[in-house]
Amino acid sequence: MNLVLLGPPGAGKGTQAKRLIEKLAIPQISTGDLLRQAVKDETELGLQAKVKMETGELVPDDVVIGMVTQRLAQDDCKAGFILDGFPRAVGQAEALEDLLASVGRGLEHVVSIEVPEEELVRRLTGRRSCPACGAMFHVSFNPPKQSGICDACKGELITRADDNEETIRNRISVFRQQTEPLKDFYQAKGLLRGIDGSGTPAEIENIIAKVISKA
Ligand code: ADP
Ligand code: ADP
Ligand code: ZN
Repeated sequence: MNLVLLGPPGAGKGTQAKRLIEKLAIPQISTGDLLRQAVKDETELGLQAKVKMETGELVPDDVVIGMVTQRLAQDDCKAGFILDGFPRAVGQAEALEDLLASVGRGLEHVVSIEVPEEELVRRLTGRRSCPACGAMFHVSFNPPKQSGICDACKGELITRADDNEETIRNRISVFRQQTEPLKDFYQAKGLLRGIDGSGTPAEIENIIAKVISKA
């Protein structure tokens, strides 16, 4: 199954993608994770992306499209994929459509997770991530057993540099301006599945399971 998870920062895309990996046995492709790895490795692409990411602006389309093109060509994507954080702009969505069409494939569902802005800010200011294994926590909503330590790998948890309130507000505004138009784009193609993302992770997982099981 070829899926896109669409939604503002903090909507729970990463959290739900991790649950879907196990259920559907297909990989998660997170452009945010790929970009953070490139920044860490100090590749040319990473250096290009760093300043944009720090301020919450979008990295140029050609950079992320190139990354996703390479990733989707890998063997583990043959049975399907979960795109998390891509596409984020109409140009990216068009490039994805062409890319998939060129190999006789297409998207099945674009799940749009809707969460009110103040809840997004609460979720992102409390988010703690494990750079070693990618696990995600929240200081109140999903705290690790031991404060600051990853349950899964015992690594040290971090607060992402862009998870501060000023940058969060900017990321939400960038979402409204550049990413939200994708809802109309996919609605027109009959692919959009809008869901309420304000419940618990388990509740949202069930809602997603229902919408993607329908033809
Ligand atoms: P996104 O990938 O859309 O930016 P995340 O999955 O990283 O969102 O979630 C953002 C933060 O909110 C994380 O700290 C996560 O633990 C927490 N979170 C995710 N889903 C929920 C939920 N349904 N209710 C409360 N907190 C949540
Ligand atoms: P979140 O989980 O909060 O939605 P991500 O980890 O997906 O954030 O993305 C972090 C940052 O990486 C974004 O603010 C943006 O600068 C960059 N980024 C990620 N995906 C894309 C994309 N598809 N296009 C442009 N920039 C992107
Ligand atoms: Zn970990």
